[in-house]
Amino acid sequence: MTQVWNFSAGPAALPRPVLERAQRELLDWDGSGMSVMEQSHRGKRFVAMAAQVEADLRELAAIPADYAVLFLQGGATQHFAQIPMNLAGEGDVADYVVNGHWGAKAASEAAAYVRVNVAASSQADGYLRLPPRAEWRLDPNAAYVHYTPNETIHGVEYRDVPEVGGVPLVADMSSSILSGPLDVSRFGLVYAGAQKNIGPSGLVLMIVRRDLLQRAPRPMAKIFRYAEYAAADSMLNTPNTWGWYLAGLTFQWLKEQGGLAAMGERNRAKAERLYAAIDGSGGYYRNPVDPAARSRMNVPFTLHDSALDADFLRESEAAGLMALKGHKALGGMRASLYNAVPPEAVDALVAFMRDFAARHG
Ligand SMILES: *Cc1c(COP(=O)(O)O)cnc(C)c1O
Repeated sequence: MTQVWNFSAGPAALPRPVLERAQRELLDWDGSGMSVMEQSHRGKRFVAMAAQVEADLRELAAIPADYAVLFLQGGATQHFAQIPMNLAGEGDVADYVVNGHWGAKAASEAAAYVRVNVAASSQADGYLRLPPRAEWRLDPNAAYVHYTPNETIHGVEYRDVPEVGGVPLVADMSSSILSGPLDVSRFGLVYAGAQKNIGPSGLVLMIVRRDLLQRAPRPMAKIFRYAEYAAADSMLNTPNTWGWYLAGLTFQWLKEQGGLAAMGERNRAKAERLYAAIDGSGGYYRNPVDPAARSRMNVPFTLHDSALDADFLRESEAAGLMALKGHKALGGMRASLYNAVPPEAVDALVAFMRDFAARHG
C-alpha cells in the first residue's frame, strides 16, 4: 500500500494510530471476543467505555462541571434546527453572525423556530473577510448568539472568542473543535459534527452549560430535547456506538500528543508553512481570504491560470496528495489541515506545489 496524505474537508483524515488501534481491536474489543459495534450500549463494557471517553474529553478541554457533554446524532445540520428548538421560544429573537456558508444555513434553519436577527454578515464580501465584533448588531434580549468560529468552505476563522456579555454564545465548531486550546467557560453551547476533527460522521459532540438545559420554550417530543439526553447519559436511544468509540481513541491520541495547546501549536505551524508557500509563489498560487481572517484548518487557494486545475489535481493525486479539489463556491483547490493531518503531509504538499509551478511555469 502506498502512503497517501488526505486533505479532505470532511469526512476527513483520522489519526493513523487511531485507525491502527481500531483495526487491532476490531474482532475482539476489550476482551469480549466481539467488535465494539456488536455490543449492547447498555452493557457494562460499553457504559464503562462511554464514561471514560467523557472523562478524557473533560480532562483534555478542562470542561467545567456545570457543563454537560452530549454524544448525539443527526450531523451538525440537524442541530441547526434543534438548537433553536431547545433554547428559544417562537417569539424570541436569536442573533446569528453569518460569516460563511454554514452560518447562513444555520440561520435559515433556525428561522422555522425563532425570530432570527442577522447581527452581522460578510456575504457582500463573498465571506472572504470576517465581520469584526465591533460591527455585530446584537439584540440585548436575544435568547443566544450563534456564530461559526471556523468556516470550512471559505477558509475564514475567528482567532479570538468574541465577548457577547450575558447572552449565551453558541458556536458551530464542526471544523475547528479541539484544534487548539478551548475555553469552554466562554460559551453557552459548543457543537460539532465529528467527521472533521474527532471521528467518523454520524456523531455530534455537544458541550452545553447545564442551566440552558432547563429552558423548555415549546412542547417537543423527548427525542429532540437535549435535557433528556443529558439525563440519560446520551443513551436516550441507541447511540452511534462505533463513532463514540473512535472519538474516544482520538481523545486518547490527543492526550498523547500533549493536549490541545500542543495541537494548537502544531496546527499553527502547519498552516503558516502552507500560507508562506502560497504567498511566496510570486502569484502562481493565491489565497483569496483577508490575511487577518485566514483559517488554520481549511486553506483554499487558486492557481494563476485555472486551465491548469485539472493537471494540478491529476498530478497531485498521482503523488499521493488526496482530495485537494476546492469547493465549487470558490473553485480552485482547498487543503484541509485538521489535527490528523501531520506536518509531513504539509511538507509533501508544499514540495509538490513548488515542483508543479517549476514544471508548468
Ligand atoms: C461540515 C460542516 C457542517 C455540516 O455538518 P453535517 O454533519 O454534515 O451536518 C456544519 N458546520 C460546519 C462548520 C461544517 O464544517
